[in-house]
Amino acid sequence: MKEFAYERAADVSGALALLDADPGARFLGGGTNLVDLMKTGVERPARLVDVRGLPLDRIESTGDGGLRIGATVTNSDLAAHPDVRRRYPALTQAVLAGASGQLRNMATVGGNLLQRTRCGYFTDVSKPCNKRVPGSGCPAIEGEHHNHAILGASDHCVATHPSDLGVALTAFDAVVSYETADGPGELPLTEFYLPVGDTPHLETALPPGALITGVTLPPAPVAANSRYRKVRERASYAFAIGSIAAALDVHDGVVREVRLAFGAVASRPWRARAAEAALTGGPVDAAAFAAAADAELAAARPLPHNGYKVTLMRNLVVAVLSELAEEATR
Ligand SMILES: Cc1cc2nc3c(=O)[nH]c(=O)nc-3n(C[C@H](O)[C@H](O)[C@H](O)COP(=O)(O)OP(=O)(O)OC[C@H]3O[C@@H](n4cnc5c(N)ncnc54)[C@H](O)[C@@H]3O)c2cc1C
Ligand code: SF4
Repeated sequence: MKEFAYERAADVSGALALLDADPGARFLGGGTNLVDLMKTGVERPARLVDVRGLPLDRIESTGDGGLRIGATVTNSDLAAHPDVRRRYPALTQAVLAGASGQLRNMATVGGNLLQRTRCGYFTDVSKPCNKRVPGSGCPAIEGEHHNHAILGASDHCVATHPSDLGVALTAFDAVVSYETADGPGELPLTEFYLPVGDTPHLETALPPGALITGVTLPPAPVAANSRYRKVRERASYAFAIGSIAAALDVHDGVVREVRLAFGAVASRPWRARAAEAALTGGPVDAAAFAAAADAELAAARPLPHNGYKVTLMRNLVVAVLSELAEEATR
């Protein structure tokens, strides 16, 4: 592991100044992803600016009935918060479906959103990878890709984003707030991650040196009837091979509002807008749910070894929406 300097930031402006002063510096949240990648040589920062002591560790109700979650709130505290559990249950379920208790105690909201892909070629510095070394190639396309993207990928990269939290936040229209030396900014989560295109190394629309300060969830009554379901290769402590965050509001047998986002199928959490449009105002039955899933998955371009994800996601949509529909009409 390359030697590095370590500093604790006392306030937001101090954190930004430390990063600004050193082009080789990086923010450190819980360190559960960045430090792992430093050990294997994928990441080589010269300086770590620890942001966990910043006053960004609160979860507060906003005046309009939403929630504001600070960037250094741990995944454990986020999942356990009573307002999150009651008003956005899929968010709690998504966080609890990720990693282990010990990791969730360390991992922060900001760090979770910026965690890197788990593509095995990306994490193995002996292999080429367009995301790690632009222009070096993408061995996953011809090689091991059973857990790679079926939606929104390109010929340059087919990696998936691993965050479970990000999928639920995407379904609920969360907005990321950040600070830079030039002032604050905001990005809806649906615009936060860049399309992969021919620049897979450029992952987010955050300006260089930006510090994530928090995430705001707008009020969403539909979210009270929501669920996160994650399919993985073993029962716990594993990343998704497919996941879904869903919320459903039913009135007189008709879908009044629906939210759907998919995980582990694209380079970013995937908001399933075609499926939402197909469902809204329509009947609440398995045939309609399957047709909506098909409308979304028509854009899927699976590789030879990950076509199973199309069926997996279709089944997840039908199963989770059927459960939510039953609960909504009880
Ligand atoms: C064994 C294992 C299993 C896991 N399983 C899952 C899983 O199933 N699902 C899942 O979603 N995740 C899983 N994770 C990933 C885990 O959730 C992430 O490692 C964690 O959320 C990252 O948060 P962190 O605070 O530790 O980030 P760090 O490792 O500290 O940082 C990650 C990145 O974010 C940047 N960063 C951190 N905070 C900020 C900020 N405020 N502003 C700007 N940049 C910032 C850092 O510079 C770095 O680039 C797993 C991890 C491990 C090790
Ligand atoms: S899929 Fe992306 S991350 Fe994986 S090897 Fe290809 S370019 Fe690298």
